[in-house]
Amino acid sequence: MRGSVTVAIDGPAGSGKSTLSRALATRLGLHRLDTGAMYRSVAWAVLQQGIDADDREAVAEVARDLDIEVDDRVVADGTDITEAIRGPEVSATVSAVAANPAVRAVMVERQRRWVDAHGGGVVEGRDIGSVVLPDADVKLFLTASPEVRAARRSEEGAEAVARRDRLDSTRTASPLEVPEGARVIDTGAQSVDQIVEEVVAWL
Ligand code: C5P
Repeated sequence: MRGSVTVAIDGPAGSGKSTLSRALATRLGLHRLDTGAMYRSVAWAVLQQGIDADDREAVAEVARDLDIEVDDRVVADGTDITEAIRGPEVSATVSAVAANPAVRAVMVERQRRWVDAHGGGVVEGRDIGSVVLPDADVKLFLTASPEVRAARRSEEGAEAVARRDRLDSTRTASPLEVPEGARVIDTGAQSVDQIVEEVVAWL
């Protein structure tokens, strides 16, 4: 549809970002970027290379050097890691990697370039409305009860999800927070179709 429409979607794990961003991208004829998959790709490479996730300089170097393609499949340096990045090791490591300001700087820059290259898009993550696209046409912050979110992430486990949310919300660099001007949506209270139509009306 219209060129250069940007939709920013943030929220904790299991809040429904992926489902809503897919549905919105389809409805609006926009491309979708899952920025969590980018941080997960860096965490995967860090694990693969046996690097300590707390070694900030070494991890930043991995982020700078890693070629990441995020689409239906996730490919890093030519390896398809779509399934690997959803595994427990990556989930347990990604928040430490994402707390690294140098890693974030590299990712934010690439995300903005992706939006420019695609003429807008639906972008989901933790800092999209606050840092990556503060001027997005619509900013959404998704929530759902801890029970609903844990059920959606049953393979990761409620405790691991809670730990990741705690780390993401308390880190110094771009913590997860409701961005200024964001509309807060409880995804446990309405159907995806209802939310999509509501968001379209806001555009
Ligand atoms: O969205 P997903 O749960 O796959 O994100 C994995 C992790 O990546 C988050 O727990 C968070 O640590 C990090 N992340 C981030 N900023 C983003 C997207 C994800 O810090 N924009």
